[in-house]
Amino acid sequence: MIDMYEQSEEPSKMPSTIFKKSKPAPTITKLPSLSLDKDHLITDFKRYYAYRLGRDENCRSPYYAYEALSLVISDRLIERWKNTYNAYRDTDCRKAYYLSMEFLMGRTLSNAMLNLGVTDEATRAMYDLGLEIEELVDSEPDAGLGNGGLGRLAACFIDSCATLQLPVIGYGLRYEYGMFSQVLQNGEQVERPDHWLRNGNVWEIERPEYAHRIKFGGRTESHSDENGNKRICWVDTQDILAVPYDTPIPGYNNGTVNTLRLWKSTATEEFNLQEFNAGDYAESVAAKNTAENITMVLYPNDANENGKALRLKQQYLLASASLQDVIANWVGRHGNNFSDFAEKNCFQLNDTHPSIAVAELMRLLIDIHGLSWNEAWGITTKTMAYTNHTLLPEALERWSVSLFEQLLPRLLEIIYDINARFMAEVSTHWPGDLDRMRRMSIIEEGTEKQVRMAYLAIVGSYSINGVAELHSKLLQEGLFKDFYELWPSKFNNKTNGVTPRRWLAGCNPALAELITETIGDAWITDLSELQKLKPYAEDAAFRGKWLAIQRQNKQRLIDYKKSELGLELSADALFDVQVKRIHEYKRQLLNVLHVIHLYDKIKRGDTQDWVNRCVLIGGKAAPGYVMAKNIIKFINNVSDVINFDPEVGDKLKLVFLPNYRVSAMEIICTGADLSEQISTAGKEASGTGNMKFMMNGAITIGTLDGANIEILEEVGEDNFFLFGLTEDQVEAMKGHYDPNAIIEQDNDLKRVVNLIECGHFNLMEPGIFDDLVNSIKSPYDPWMTVADFRSYVDAQNRAEKAFVDTERWTKMSILNCASSGKFSTDRTIGDYNRDIWKLTPVRIDEL
Ligand SMILES: *Cc1c(COP(=O)(O)O)cnc(C)c1O
Repeated sequence: MIDMYEQSEEPSKMPSTIFKKSKPAPTITKLPSLSLDKDHLITDFKRYYAYRLGRDENCRSPYYAYEALSLVISDRLIERWKNTYNAYRDTDCRKAYYLSMEFLMGRTLSNAMLNLGVTDEATRAMYDLGLEIEELVDSEPDAGLGNGGLGRLAACFIDSCATLQLPVIGYGLRYEYGMFSQVLQNGEQVERPDHWLRNGNVWEIERPEYAHRIKFGGRTESHSDENGNKRICWVDTQDILAVPYDTPIPGYNNGTVNTLRLWKSTATEEFNLQEFNAGDYAESVAAKNTAENITMVLYPNDANENGKALRLKQQYLLASASLQDVIANWVGRHGNNFSDFAEKNCFQLNDTHPSIAVAELMRLLIDIHGLSWNEAWGITTKTMAYTNHTLLPEALERWSVSLFEQLLPRLLEIIYDINARFMAEVSTHWPGDLDRMRRMSIIEEGTEKQVRMAYLAIVGSYSINGVAELHSKLLQEGLFKDFYELWPSKFNNKTNGVTPRRWLAGCNPALAELITETIGDAWITDLSELQKLKPYAEDAAFRGKWLAIQRQNKQRLIDYKKSELGLELSADALFDVQVKRIHEYKRQLLNVLHVIHLYDKIKRGDTQDWVNRCVLIGGKAAPGYVMAKNIIKFINNVSDVINFDPEVGDKLKLVFLPNYRVSAMEIICTGADLSEQISTAGKEASGTGNMKFMMNGAITIGTLDGANIEILEEVGEDNFFLFGLTEDQVEAMKGHYDPNAIIEQDNDLKRVVNLIECGHFNLMEPGIFDDLVNSIKSPYDPWMTVADFRSYVDAQNRAEKAFVDTERWTKMSILNCASSGKFSTDRTIGDYNRDIWKLTPVRIDEL
């Protein structure tokens, strides 16, 4: 494996002796493959537990048993991993690289066992040892290397790539601290650092021999090479090393194990030495810390953190290390001949975060490998593909030209060159249209010049996609209209999905078993098979089983939360759930307005035909997003008033679920009746939480936004609670939105607003919700919360009517699950591959 990477940018400066080849090649006999039998698992488990981990019968912590079992499973992944690697090398196949600043992986053990097909044997093995496998699985910390939907999408994608046997490598950053963990103090969010690597990480393998050097700062120099061509050198830089850590990504029962490669920044060795020689030992160690800072922490921002130098360094580290890695591999095999490079490689950019890769690939090809501008541009624009994730203009990344100049001077020059050629193309297409040139320029002029990263990604890519039909359409008509007019064929849609392994087979074993018993197990790798459940919606006996499982899952959710909340919930109530990042556009406030309306009805005695309801809301707010944090405080204050009012009792509960994360969602999405997907139309690019709920049989109450539209299309209006303005209506309302008039005309809403304004939920904390009320009463409220209140309440009433008719509700639930086939990432990845990547699956011999 090693020799393929030897031709790195400056191999002589690579650290360590691992590079040395022993000659002749050692004769290490091929090992027999490891057994998946219970008894072999037990033998291997005992060996790891006793010798690698140094534990014995006196150790009571399930964590070490988790580690021992993980090592046992990891061995079995690694042998398949090597097979997969060898097959990719031997076939010299075309590959895709998924570049993402976030991989929100969650836990690994239970998913690895599922995909290896060893869950039952391992469960029995642990049972024989007196261990409960659930307890081991629960001791694993989440790998929270992402904020929300975008990072979780990347994790689901690589699962599907391995399951479809596609040669795809995930490239990301190995943050020392992942997404903060959220605790509540006095109803307010407090962030605690998430040191997820504290106890080590049994799933990763460090690969120091494949480290790459990353440059920052310095300046550029031009000179002529031996052929008289002008060449640029980037000199006087401060360098760091990017060291890869590899994690195996198993496909489902197919022998394929792909790679997720995450980069950690470390200091190079030589600057330590220089300063040490000069007597500045302490200084040199301090410099080492600075280098290691780059991958220290994930930015906990769901939209973007603009202008922070550290964030730009992270982005460049990811792009440069990953591209150097691919190129080193290429050069190891093909030398400096790049003529087929674009036939064999493509890069999918997960949002604009890694889009500096466009300029970095140009730099590596031109400055390091001596290609001409045109050759390099031809390769770049045939290998880069860009996925957009947001329509919110404030989330579009921009970097100040001055910051770029300071940190990445050579990259800035290349971006200027790309832009100059691009502007020439625009002016050929629209002669004299200076306004359009100004609009489309990668460099935004103004008091502070900015680099528009989305435009760099568009200009450098052969494919640009949105993540749901509506989102892709709005990109073409709005945000990227000029570019769509110039290059319509570059634009396409790829509706998001979620992996059915984690989000149905893994998280809902009881339902998975019932489904398999009924229609066979082909659904696990072909989710459209779930269609076959549709006739069973009419089968009373099947509905009985379905309902019993749903109830059992609700109870599991109640038990999971009981210890933290000190609150009894009843599984008889309608479980109404909204979990996702806290953001104004997602409108958790609209949800709370409805809850207050229900509370108001109870207080005024309007409780005829009452349907008991538990409203669960969870999610993290970006630490700097004041309004989002205030929404959390508001939910908790309202919850305190409602939950302890004896007059309310079981009729209504409002619970904030702290520290929402992947492992929590695996329980939450199986125990929900109603899935809240209530963003302002036109604002949620896709949503994927909506898909997890649907797959597990929850029914959506939602707006015509993102993938909700496609969910509605699949399941039909009878099985979906639709409400709210359409995107067109939201647009048309701008300029004459009058929330105060709406409140005045709606007595229920007026009473709700009055309760908040008179301080009913903050009697001891005057004024703390003023900004929040003012925001929804403002005619400039971009989220138009008040506009959708009445239609939302009506939809909630329809949901209650449906819920009390248990037979009807269960039918709807079955039909939602049965119609969720489209939302498998196997379908999504199939679409990416058909239209963008064009990879051939590589069959791997199963062991
Ligand atoms: C699926 C998921 C998300 C995305 O949820 P949306 O409702 O689509 O915003 C965010 N965070 C976690 C932990 C998830 O599992």
